Amino acid sequence: ALNESDLGTEQTGRVVSHFGVQVDVEAFPYDHTQPEIIRCHKRSNLGDIVTGDLVTWRQGQDDMGVIVAVNERQNQLSRPGFRGEMKLIAANIDQMMVVIAPEPEPHQGLVDRYFIAAEYWAIEPILVINKADLFESSPYKERLERLNQLYTSLGYKVITASSQTEAGLNDLYSSLKDKTSVFVGQSGVGKSSLINVLLPGSDIQTGELSETSRKGKHTTTTARLYHFPTGGDLIDSPGIRELSLTNLDKDTILEGFKELHPFIGNCKFRNCNHESEPQCAIREAYDSGAISEERYTSLWRIIDSLEEE
Ligand code: GDP
Ligand code: ZN
Repeated sequence: ALNESDLGTEQTGRVVSHFGVQVDVEAFPYDHTQPEIIRCHKRSNLGDIVTGDLVTWRQGQDDMGVIVAVNERQNQLSRPGFRGEMKLIAANIDQMMVVIAPEPEPHQGLVDRYFIAAEYWAIEPILVINKADLFESSPYKERLERLNQLYTSLGYKVITASSQTEAGLNDLYSSLKDKTSVFVGQSGVGKSSLINVLLPGSDIQTGELSETSRKGKHTTTTARLYHFPTGGDLIDSPGIRELSLTNLDKDTILEGFKELHPFIGNCKFRNCNHESEPQCAIREAYDSGAISEERYTSLWRIIDSLEEE
């Protein structure tokens, strides 16, 4: 049992990883040259704690800390786990770097799905077009140019980069500064390669799998928090990189198309399906050109695909 008087004063920090009941907390303020990581227990009344959580902790007597409070989360990422229960993966994320490339073949529908998820989780999406060294010879060059144009015109940030030539590295660093980001995208677009270039000295691909706790030998695939050398944090895990959109309803999908925000809720009928009802604001948005042909087509494709599931 913990004795209150044996505990140090209250300090703040951020969860950088967790293994079962043990949680690694980095003390504030961050010291990039010598990060102070404290392995902590948590008070049993606290509920789930996840990478990215901001916590209050106190030093215990056995070299370990005790987490005594968890700050309210700005947002949280979760995915369906065992028996459909939602499993928490990370908290307090500002940005989602959605990575596409000339290969594998880029699809607008996939980008839109990530952007819907980002909107749903209240995370700012940024489109990263990787493998810029392959653009000129790519059969998808025009498609990538159009995607760049399309998302830029919607007000999103688009960064072209190459983990191979390190083009766009400075743009990436400046966008990542002062934020907590995750990288997502299809397998093979170069997420691991980009992260390895952005985090020199950390072999993230193998690092994830061989992560061992100081006590015991169990491995983990839970998310970890890293610092970029120029500022800003990354939260990464194999599960985060392959996040996908599931169990979302039609309203959530509509909300994910930000150019529709001024129109949502303005249909004549409150239960409008936006199909062939009179005075449908969504249809009017399309007719007036407020949403592009490509995005409108994509919207319905996504809605139809969910209805089939
Ligand atoms: P991930 O599955 O998204 O993590 O992708 P990886 O980082 O494993 O990269 C998939 C493949 O793309 C590997 O063969 C990389 O060498 C290659 N790749 C990654 N980035 C680039 C790039 O900027 N240019 C080129 N030409 N190939 C790249
Ligand atoms: Zn409608």
